Amino acid sequence: MSRTAQEFKELYGHPPEGVWAAPGRVNLIGEHTDYNDGFALPFALPQRTEVAASPRTDGALRFHSADAPSGVVTLDLAALDPARPPQTAESWAAYPAGVVWALLEAGLPVRGVDLHVRSDVPNGAGLSSSAALEVATALALTDLYGLPLTRPELAALARRAENAYVGVPCGVMDQMASACSTEGHALHLDTRSLEQRHIPFDCAAAGLRLLVIDTRVKHALADGAYARRRASCHEAAAELGVPALRDLPYEELDQALDRLGDPVRRRRVRHVVTENERVVRIEELLRAGRLRETGPLLSEGHRSLRDDYEVSCPELDLAVATAEAAGAYGSRMTGGGFGGSALALIDADAEEPVTRAVTEAFARAGFKPPSITPAAPSAGATRLL
Ligand code: ADP
Ligand code: MG
Repeated sequence: MSRTAQEFKELYGHPPEGVWAAPGRVNLIGEHTDYNDGFALPFALPQRTEVAASPRTDGALRFHSADAPSGVVTLDLAALDPARPPQTAESWAAYPAGVVWALLEAGLPVRGVDLHVRSDVPNGAGLSSSAALEVATALALTDLYGLPLTRPELAALARRAENAYVGVPCGVMDQMASACSTEGHALHLDTRSLEQRHIPFDCAAAGLRLLVIDTRVKHALADGAYARRRASCHEAAAELGVPALRDLPYEELDQALDRLGDPVRRRRVRHVVTENERVVRIEELLRAGRLRETGPLLSEGHRSLRDDYEVSCPELDLAVATAEAAGAYGSRMTGGGFGGSALALIDADAEEPVTRAVTEAFARAGFKPPSITPAAPSAGATRLL
């Protein structure tokens, strides 16, 4: 029996009916495009969240996480209310509770659950531990109750749980990456149609490695800044007379920018439109097996987020600049910004020197030691037991 199943049994006094897992993700390219109906190219991490679960018939929800100090959180399914999600030490339980709520809202029958969580996805590192928890929970519940959801539907439902129940206005990329990725591939995602393509992305075979550099900081301005970025994109789309910034062709960017009066808004639009174009170009390079050549586009993406979208921070900029100086083909912040993680594309044998250079640069700057791990594109959510 797996550790997660064993812990479930000790906690609830009976073995789980199954164990499910869903991974964290990093986004290779396509940042802040998902609320503009644009493209993204994330892939699943080897780190994942496991959920052991059994159904109940009495309407009780019992949630426990090895990674949260709350003990067992017991909720009443009939009383789930997005206006009153669990608070303080129990606030983590809003994620699985939100999934149950979203299933019920969709008219799908859930009658209760015992659930135990264990994860090695770092929390709050921009690697989407929240989506991993939602998707693992959603997969467990759909299997336990025989609910007929496709993976994209499951991802959309998990996103609804986070938006409407937890109260975080995220796009759908994280949940789609966790639910739908396949090993050795990045997931090309059209966030308007939810159409997806699996793009071969085998770094090891190309003699390359991707490093995830977790800066271990999260700056306080992240939430408000995210809401303002979203708002200014939507305002710019309205000003330009398009449904979303995704509808601005890259070839017409300069004319569109000329029509925008506000210089800040111009920079935001330039980021979104050039970022969508970078997703397209990187997908082409991956398909052609020209992995190294994606490096300059990754670095260009970082500069766009830093200078035009203004969502980077000193720790991310230092991680990127140091990785580049130590020989990375390209490097960029990944995720929403203001902390979290950066990616660096390096030669397989450069892991040690790049790790050392970044660690030393952080020490010299007086920053917390970063956590640096290689990441191979891994499988999406799956049933383990
Ligand atoms: P990220 O998704 O980038 O890791 P978020 O702030 O979106 O960061 O999500 C982190 C939150 O998700 C945690 O504060 C916690 O409430 C919840 N969470 C994620 N993983 C777990 C887990 N294994 N156990 C309990 N709660 C978790
Ligand atoms: Mg999250």
